[in-house]
Parts: sequence; structure tokens; C-alpha cells
Amino acid sequence: MKVFLQTYGCQMNKLDTALVTSALKKAGFSLADSEKGADVVLINTCSVRRHAEQRVLSHLGHLKHIKKSKPNIVVGVIGCMAQRLGAELLEDKTVDIVCGPAQIPQIAELVTKALQEKKRTLAITEKIRQKSPEDEALEKFESVFDSEDSQVPAQAYVRVMRGCNNFCTYCIVPYVRGPEVSRPPAAIIEQVKRLAGNGVKLVTLLGQMVNSYKYSTCGKTYCLADLLSMVSEIEGIEWIRFVTSYPAEEFYEQILKAMADLPKVCNYLHMPAQSGSDKILKAMNRNYTASKYLELIDKARENVPGIAISGDFMVGFPGETEEDFEKTVSLVQSARYKNCFVFKYSPRPGTAADKRLQDDVGEEVKKRRNIKLLAVQEEISDELSKEFIGKKVKVLVEGLSKKPRLSSCGEKSYPPSLKLRRTSPQLVGRTAEDWIVVFNGPVSLAGEFAKVKITRTSPLTLFGEM
Ligand code: SAM
Ligand code: SF4
Repeated sequence: MKVFLQTYGCQMNKLDTALVTSALKKAGFSLADSEKGADVVLINTCSVRRHAEQRVLSHLGHLKHIKKSKPNIVVGVIGCMAQRLGAELLEDKTVDIVCGPAQIPQIAELVTKALQEKKRTLAITEKIRQKSPEDEALEKFESVFDSEDSQVPAQAYVRVMRGCNNFCTYCIVPYVRGPEVSRPPAAIIEQVKRLAGNGVKLVTLLGQMVNSYKYSTCGKTYCLADLLSMVSEIEGIEWIRFVTSYPAEEFYEQILKAMADLPKVCNYLHMPAQSGSDKILKAMNRNYTASKYLELIDKARENVPGIAISGDFMVGFPGETEEDFEKTVSLVQSARYKNCFVFKYSPRPGTAADKRLQDDVGEEVKKRRNIKLLAVQEEISDELSKEFIGKKVKVLVEGLSKKPRLSSCGEKSYPPSLKLRRTSPQLVGRTAEDWIVVFNGPVSLAGEFAKVKITRTSPLTLFGEM
């Protein structure tokens, strides 16, 4: 039987898809390249913004048509949207399985039942904020199955924490992923060793507030800096990243020290600020001020030379005035991020902001602020990327560049000859600091390190030659 998996959302979801894929393969399923050739379609979903959910709903609309000509095809919705909407999703006759993030260990069983017994199932956590016995099953599932990214060779995500306890007022994550749980260091290390044995060179440690990782055992408390040091010891692992960091003092100095001292730890920090206005930060329940945030960024730059920092921002949070927004603009100008992600506030049912605050910033205003903030960042990214011209960088090659970009042969781009395109197509890789690098080279370099001399740049991409 063939399964087609489609993933929406963040790295956590990509990781869950990798684990589900590995579990289904072990249970005897194989992967289909498209829905057409599949007996089972699983959609791994995201609930962070309404737009993400709408994309899933229109995907389900498309599957409804496919199901008319292929009535036996099994459709499953897994992940955050499954947990949030539960039985409501099963009302749609297209859907056979609704499986929350905590129930993915059951996925092979649920799919088999749906295929053999035509059984439609709802598997979600009833009381999501309570410590659940399912956690043990999740831990086992996580440590047994493979988490390599099937799309990108030599890279894998490793979850070090599940859930979140921070309750930022806009955020759905605590309600769909449950309470914060740090995984045992021994399990994480075993998993990374196994990945290294399978040829993984870059591991990205994942947690919603990854810098607050804390696990106590045998009288010792382990923090993220301890994990970074233990993972550094593993032969075969060459680069280590961690996302996402929350702006907080606890463990910060230890983590920066680990970045500075451990050569395998990439000098890259993804630390969302969300807003530059203290009033909005307070309303968001983010426990820092804009000046504290900038202080943390300065500390990172002082302690880790060459560090690249990226951020997330939200525009149009309830009550955000032009003045508040201008404070965000000025924070972006001061922080000088490598890049940042900007989102328009989207009310999420059940969150404190949705219950207590009116979504009072109009769509047009949100759009304008989004465009402006991205433009401010683009200028900074452009300046920072230009500093690379003439320099050599080490990249981990991901594979063929998906977007055909301009030739990296020179300023005056011309289409490479057919022969050159075959023997030396356009590849994409990333530096340790997460800069995207595009150059021509053999496809066999995917999953390998390469040295590239940068010849020209755009705000988000460096172009060069091997
Ligand atoms: N845990 C991370 C943190 O605290 O920075 C972020 C996790 S969240 C899944 C990723 C990003 O989505 C956030 O940084 C935020 O900017 C954005 N986001 C979360 N909830 C949102 C909402 N209701 N509307 C718009 N963007 C949202
Ligand atoms: Fe959501 Fe805040 Fe937790 Fe990040 S820290 S996942 S934004 S509640």
C-alpha cells in the first residue's frame, strides 16, 4: 500500500512527518510521489494562523474530488489542526482519520484499520493541558524511528522539548501541543548517534523555547548548553543548530559560551522579538521589554563573533498603533537581523487574545505594516549580504536549487548551456550561519560540504562559484 504525505507548517511538523514516514515504512507501507498513485493520503497540519488552516481545508476539498473516482482512498488529517478541531473534521466524509500530535505513535495502526475495516477514527488528547500517559508512548516513538529529512540529505531534526507553557496570548501552540516536557538527555544523545551513523552531518535541536531546556536526573540538571556539548562529542555530526530561542536570561550566558567554544555549534540564533513596543509585548505576555531584547542581542554579538541573528515579528496585534509599529521598525533597524519573518496577527480560537481583545487593526493596515517591515529588513539583509562578496564560505549542500535563479557566472547573466546545466546544475546550500548560497556544481554534492567563493548577492541569497 502506498502513502502520500503532505506537510504544512513549521520544523516540528516536518519532524513529525519524518517520524510518521519512518513508522509507516517499518509497518510495510511505501511512499507515493503524488496523491494519484496513493492508497492513503496523510496531511500534517498547522494551526498557528488561519491561513494555514484554510490551505488544509482547500486541500481537503481537492481530495473530495479524488475520492469520487477513488472511493477506497484513505484520507488522514494529523497534527495541530486535528487536535484543535477534532470531531469537527470527521464531519467531513472525505476524512477517515483525525490524529493529534500526541497520537502519531498509533498512525500505522489507524491507517491499517481504515484500509481493512473501513473504520473512521478520532484519536486526539481530551485534556491537552494535563500530563498525559501518551507522553511515554511519544518518547518511545521518537527515540525508535528515524527523523532524517527525506527532502534534504545529511540533515535531521531532533526534538529536545515537546509542548509549551509560555501562553503568549496570541498563540495556539500550548493548546494543541500540550505542556512543556524536556526529553531525557540520554535519549537525545542515543538518537543523534543513530542519525550520525546514518550519515547525518547537521542536526537541528528543536523546542518552542529551546533555550529553556532543563532536565534533572541523578542529582544533575542539564541545560541546552550541556546538550550542545554532548552532541558535539558525537563523531560524524559536524554542525549543530538549535531553534527557537526565547529572549530570556536563564541559561543565556552558558548557551552563548557553548556557541563560542564549541566549533560544531553553528553561530546562528533565531530569537523572535514579535514587537518593539513594550505595551504590545506586555499584551502578548512576552516577558521582556524591547530594550532588554536588544541587550540580549548585544550580548550575543559580544560573545559570539560573526553570529547571525534572525527574528519573527507580528504586525497588527490588537491595539497596535502607528506609534507601536514604528517602535517595531526601530527595533528591526537596531537589531540588524540576517533575516526576519513577519506575520499578520491572526486570531486563534481559544487563545487569551482572541477571548479578551478585539482584532481591531484592519487587514489593509496589517498588510501595509507587513510590507514596510519586510522592506526595512531587506535593506539590512542587502547590506549584510554584500559583505560576503569576494569571501569564501563553507556550505552544506542541500541539493538542486528549486527556484531557477540567475546564473552565478557573473553580473550579466546568460542561460548556461544544456551541457553545463546537466553536469553542473544550480545547487543550493547553507552556511553555518544559515545564509542561503546558490552556485553551480554536480548533484552528487548534495549532503556534502563545499567551499564557495561569493561573487554577487541579493538580500537573502549569496551567489558564487565552487
Ligand atoms: N515558539 C516560538 C517563539 O516563541 O518565538 C514561535 C512559535 S510560532 C509557531 C512561530 C511564529 O508564528 C511566532 O514567532 C509568531 O511570530 C507567529 N505566530 C504565532 N501565533 C500567531 C498568530 N496568532 N498570528 C500570527 N502569527 C502568529
Ligand atoms: Fe507560542 Fe509563545 Fe510558546 Fe512560542 S513561546 S510556542 S509563541 S506560546
